[in-house]
Amino acid sequence: MEDIIAETQQEIPCRGRQISFLASILGEDDSPLPSSLFLYGHSGTGKTLVTITLLKKLGIVTSHVNCVEFYTSRVMYETILNQLSGTVPSSNNNYTSYASCDNLGDFTRHVREIAKERGDPRMAIVLERSERLRDCDANILPVLCRLQELTQDVNIVVILCSTLPVDKFRASTGFMEPIAFHFPQYTKDELVRILVTRRVTDYSEEFYTNYVNLVLSVFYHATKSLPELKHLVQLNFKVYCEPIEKGEATDTDIKKLWRNIEPHLKKAMSSVYLREVSSSQFERMQSLVSESTTSGDLPQLQPQMKLTGTTKIELPFYSKFLLISAYLASYNPARTDRRFFMKHHGKQRKTQAMIKAKERSSNQLVGPKPFPLERLMAIFYSIIEDKVSPTANVFSQISTLVTLRLVTQIGGEDQLDAPKYKCAVPLDFIRGIARTVGFDIVRYLYDYA
Ligand code: ATP
Ligand code: MG
Repeated sequence: MEDIIAETQQEIPCRGRQISFLASILGEDDSPLPSSLFLYGHSGTGKTLVTITLLKKLGIVTSHVNCVEFYTSRVMYETILNQLSGTVPSSNNNYTSYASCDNLGDFTRHVREIAKERGDPRMAIVLERSERLRDCDANILPVLCRLQELTQDVNIVVILCSTLPVDKFRASTGFMEPIAFHFPQYTKDELVRILVTRRVTDYSEEFYTNYVNLVLSVFYHATKSLPELKHLVQLNFKVYCEPIEKGEATDTDIKKLWRNIEPHLKKAMSSVYLREVSSSQFERMQSLVSESTTSGDLPQLQPQMKLTGTTKIELPFYSKFLLISAYLASYNPARTDRRFFMKHHGKQRKTQAMIKAKERSSNQLVGPKPFPLERLMAIFYSIIEDKVSPTANVFSQISTLVTLRLVTQIGGEDQLDAPKYKCAVPLDFIRGIARTVGFDIVRYLYDYA
């Protein structure tokens, strides 16, 4: 056992504690498995990597599935059964599964059968994004957590992975007591260590460490996700080495190298926030820029590939108005709503003091302020001319805006605390949107009106 732990720790740096915990709880040879485990932590913290690597080394028959893929529970049961029994649906067997199965009773029966057929091996079911199961059949989670007991002592463990903590599960399922284990986020030093050990380059370790440190110093505040940072590190390394390849600098010329890469990193930074270009697009843009700067022209980017918030987005009609309302709610002080959105608000005389106060705190400079949903809806109904009833459709469009990162949601994780929102788009963008629906937004903005 010690060998396996040491070997895995060697392969996966910075997860020593997690590896030894999991290995000790899974045990060796024929030792009984726990009935269920719950692994949680941010995305990219190595939950999958550690679990799958260990299961393989311990020789446990594993089914590894992602709950996002299952549109019905039938697909899930059949996929798991196929993987546990080693059935691969292909043209040879006319795409037949191990068994057709659409309920938990059959599922447990088949698991028992498979265990018998395969000579009682130790088995594991690893479920990624297991929070999705909360929306399925109400007793699927409790049953999976007690699968060992329900299959009458098949040595099987169900490992649920999720980015949510275990309390978020309890509320909706009633029963669930797996052993929970947290995967903490990597610290900056750990990230550097992992990224440096995973390098594929001829340059020295010291040189690469310098480079990784440099990239992290720029991006660490924006993203702590290992896959994202890994991608950024790989993407920009070629540019970093460029002066050396051209013979313009040596690998100790850190200052020169930094000056060369700085603009590139800044550009990449603006796409980290919006995550709106794919890496191939990004590379194409980089090459376009370098081509055009060498040929002396100005870079001719296609409009939909520009990085700064000006991307063309086609939104549904009401979503546009919702986004406009969100912008107004973020940038106008709440006390001025009456003035902008009511027909008979009375005349307001501007006093010298008011003009001064306005200058002192330009809302555009301060940035967006959070607002509650009711205020957004009130503004929405006042600026939209048709009669719209508050249907689920309208509300779902708000969550779509949140998903698109045009509006950010603050709080609202539990049921008592109502969420607040904040508009995340710049003025130019919203003016573009307002123009398409013929709405003169500037007239409604406190700073400009
Ligand atoms: P999610 O919650 O999104 O499923 P996860 O916690 O399962 O995330 P993994 O899929 O295990 O994260 O890791 C993401 C990527 O980071 C993988 O490519 C993995 O190889 C790499 N990775 C994670 N941790 C380490 C590490 N300690 N050393 C090397 N690579 C790592
Ligand atoms: Mg995972």
